[in-house]
Amino acid sequence: MAEHAKLSASGSARWLSCPPSVRLESEFPETTSPYAEEGTLAHSLGELQLRCENKEITDRQFKIRLKKLNAGGLIDNSMVEYVSSYTEYVMKTLKEHQKQCADAVLMIEQRLDFSKWVPEGFGTGDAVIISDGVLEIIDLKYGKGVEVSAEDNPQMRLYALGAIETFGCLYDFDQVAMTIFQPRLDNRSSQTLPVDELIDWAETYVKPKAALAFDGKGEFLAGDHCRFCKAKAVCRARADTNMALAKEEFKVPELLEPEEIAGYLAKAKDLVAWVEDLKTYAQDQSLNHGVHYPGMKLVEGRSNRCYIDDLQAVEDALVRQGYTEQEIYDKKILGITAMEKLMGKKKFTETLGDLVIKPKGKPTLVFEDDKRPALNTYAEAAEDFKEYTN
Ligand code: SF4
Repeated sequence: MAEHAKLSASGSARWLSCPPSVRLESEFPETTSPYAEEGTLAHSLGELQLRCENKEITDRQFKIRLKKLNAGGLIDNSMVEYVSSYTEYVMKTLKEHQKQCADAVLMIEQRLDFSKWVPEGFGTGDAVIISDGVLEIIDLKYGKGVEVSAEDNPQMRLYALGAIETFGCLYDFDQVAMTIFQPRLDNRSSQTLPVDELIDWAETYVKPKAALAFDGKGEFLAGDHCRFCKAKAVCRARADTNMALAKEEFKVPELLEPEEIAGYLAKAKDLVAWVEDLKTYAQDQSLNHGVHYPGMKLVEGRSNRCYIDDLQAVEDALVRQGYTEQEIYDKKILGITAMEKLMGKKKFTETLGDLVIKPKGKPTLVFEDDKRPALNTYAEAAEDFKEYTN
């Protein structure tokens, strides 16, 4: 099992904002999910591909290790393609560095120690290209739930600090490029920062927060970072923050102004997420640990009728009644996602690229930080129409 730091780089957005969360989280067991396991598998595949491309292992060793890695049969065509797009990008970037600096090297799954600023802090860089001028760190993110940006990303910055500590005396670089490669969302995000700026951030911001977090001290602060906190369902600070919103006085006059509605909707995002976490937690406690919540009970969820597992028996019964196969079977083509998984992205695009369309989505009201371009408003559209008809 992989070794984990108490103050991990991946959890840094949380413990930098809410230092005592580290103490609170230690009361909860380690958990995993199918998504986390899929991500680990994709990383192992990426590592294997890179070691082969980088001539650290032979093709034969690659095949043997791949077979072992895929013993559970979970590596499919689409995973191979997504991960290959990452390894191709890493190798292309390495070659570009080698044009500027003949000694540029690629380090794979490199331990990056940033304990100078964060007690016992270290992480693992998926791909680190060390060369003169600019050191580059490339991180594979296999998830597709949330698009991750490299801009002001504390995890990437901590990796950068670890790389500066480890390689700063061997190579003459004064900048660090940090790239997140998220193939399933077609997202590649980069930020390059001077070494001096990173060290200043580490000394003035990270070091004091990390000391508090390590000692379990500091102020609780709820926010977006609660999303991955193990205590998120039962944390009192998060509950208080959300309940404060619920208690906000609704102002007269009776009708809310647009600014107020926008303000409530922005805050309600956190409130809804918190209520969902609370429900999931309470349901698990009730079902698996016998906890009773006053005024609540466990009931059987609603379900839909379905046939018994023996579909042959169903078919036989229908045929006996004179129904034909054409009448009783509904032949359906696989959905887009399942088909792409079956064929792999490249073959899917080659074969079906011109036969797949993306219909216009239903207009949705979102916050301004959403990356999608704004639609014309009703008033603008009306104005456009007037100009067109004049
Ligand atoms: S849920 Fe949020 S506020 Fe509570 S400890 Fe975790 S990060 Fe801090």
